[in-house]
Amino acid sequence: MKKEDCVFCKIVNGDIPSNTIYENSEFKVIMDISPATKGHVLVLPKEHFKDIYDIDAETAGKLFQLAAVVARALKEVLHCDGLNIIQNNGEIAGQTVFHFHMHLIPRYEGDDVTV
Ligand code: 5GP
Ligand code: ZN
Repeated sequence: MKKEDCVFCKIVNGDIPSNTIYENSEFKVIMDISPATKGHVLVLPKEHFKDIYDIDAETAGKLFQLAAVVARALKEVLHCDGLNIIQNNGEIAGQTVFHFHMHLIPRYEGDDVTV
């Protein structure tokens, strides 16, 4: 798939809208369009990397540091009881958008969600 066809690149470029909760020069944190639970967000680099095999270790490290900060913010704001961090690589693993991203999925007692 070409970068021009990438939905997250389009979001980063402002070509399609998103609910952005945080961004800096390198990363963007957006609400998932189809949330598994209340507060399901995606953390993504602005640069296009396909997956864990494509992203460089430094960017992946910074992204995880940001994810940890966002996780704490979600807990503060939403009072969730737990959180899943999920990161899919390849179609077989459930990846549907081939621009590296990390899911932060707040969990609530009794939410009965399978992730
Ligand atoms: P994956 O299955 O690749 O790990 O996750 C892709 C995620 O991107 C899915 O949870 C899906 O709901 C979300 N998604 C797909 N298209 C859009 C979009 O246009 N905007 C937003 N905010 N999320 C999207
Ligand atoms: Zn992209």
